[in-house]
Amino acid sequence: METENTLHDAWDREHLWHPYTSTINPLPTYKVASCDGAIITLADGTELIDGMSSWWCAIHGYNNQRLNQAAIDQLSHMSHVMFGGLTHEPAIELGKILLSMAPPSMHNIFYADSGSVAVEVAMKMAVQAAVSASGDHRKTNFATIRSGYHGDTWNAMSVCDPVTGMHGAFGSALPVRFFVPQPSSRFDGEWNPADIAPLEQLFLDKSEEIAALILEPIVQGAGGMWFYHPEYLRQARALCNKYGILLIFDEIATGFWRTGKCFAWEHAGVEPDIMCIGKGLTGGYLTMSAVLTTRKVADTISQGEAGVLMHGPTFMANPLACAIAVESARILAEENMEARLLNIESQLKAGLAPARDIPGVTDVRVLGSIGVVELHRSVDVGKFQKECVRKGVWIRPFGRNAYIMPPYIISDEQLQTLCSNLIEIISDERNY
Ligand code: PMP
Repeated sequence: METENTLHDAWDREHLWHPYTSTINPLPTYKVASCDGAIITLADGTELIDGMSSWWCAIHGYNNQRLNQAAIDQLSHMSHVMFGGLTHEPAIELGKILLSMAPPSMHNIFYADSGSVAVEVAMKMAVQAAVSASGDHRKTNFATIRSGYHGDTWNAMSVCDPVTGMHGAFGSALPVRFFVPQPSSRFDGEWNPADIAPLEQLFLDKSEEIAALILEPIVQGAGGMWFYHPEYLRQARALCNKYGILLIFDEIATGFWRTGKCFAWEHAGVEPDIMCIGKGLTGGYLTMSAVLTTRKVADTISQGEAGVLMHGPTFMANPLACAIAVESARILAEENMEARLLNIESQLKAGLAPARDIPGVTDVRVLGSIGVVELHRSVDVGKFQKECVRKGVWIRPFGRNAYIMPPYIISDEQLQTLCSNLIEIISDERNY
């Protein structure tokens, strides 16, 4: 049995940067020994039920035997080979599967390294296509809605929410984008036609400067865990068509059944011109993403001044990641995911409903396998997580939102334990 000291490793604390942390006063980090299914086992033997899927990605749980085997099989062929001038079966196989899952108009695929890089590539595609189509070199900016999150690299950061995102820290170094309010109409509520007016006004005023509108469809993730009305996407699509603006869907968090559909565009029946996917793509095994687009956009880029898409990462289409992604997609195809997600959704709804009666809770919302409890003030993450670990669950709140998004293989009993522990923790404000 390890001691408390090795659970919070002193060397790690002194030398390793964790996400968004101070080196002077870092949040506690817990040392993990192994993970299996929906269980994270800490170095001291403590078992935690995973409520985070390692930030949306471990959709089949950890140590999945089929994904392990896919990795082992691929290793005996090659872990990596360059994609410039070479191709391989895992990339081709994955591409075919992705096109069968994606909106019908998607035709060309660009493999990238991470979600943020996918967003960079999508934005570069949009600029190259917009300038090529219009011949207007001013058509290079972007529109988006407030409370969005699209990643931490430069351009991705520029379309994150200007207040809750990182704009404050980087100031004038960031390109200035066009922001309109986020839709106020709830996913499951009435549509308020006033929601779309600011976007229409923006397009009316600035369409000649805007290459694309970028949105997380239906679910805004890290920027506020907000679920908005599908009608917004339908009307945004119509406005993009009217004003000659491309539509980018960032499905990095929402993809691979997280919202109860294979991809979130299906809730609205609206297809984008460019779509980013990542996270669950490899079942949470390796970092990989993809940008999909229509033949029209791809060909417009190719007919432009450069004649090519200006991007080509070293680890593009990494065969190991592709092989695991193929196996992950096969697992999804073999299972009745709709039924599985409906079951998780109904359990989250029932399990989190009592939170509505807790003082300090301002909203409870559930969609697919995402359950959100919104609190009246920001959570002290260190305090909250200490209580989680004591109770044997792993939940990492962000801002005012404590949320659960478990691996899809979680058992009913584990999910109930996650919900009831979350409720117990927030019932006592001293815990957060
Ligand atoms: N877009 C969205 C919607 C995301 O949720 C994230 C990651 N949280 C990203 C982009 C960035 O992905 P990555 O962390 O893999 O760069």
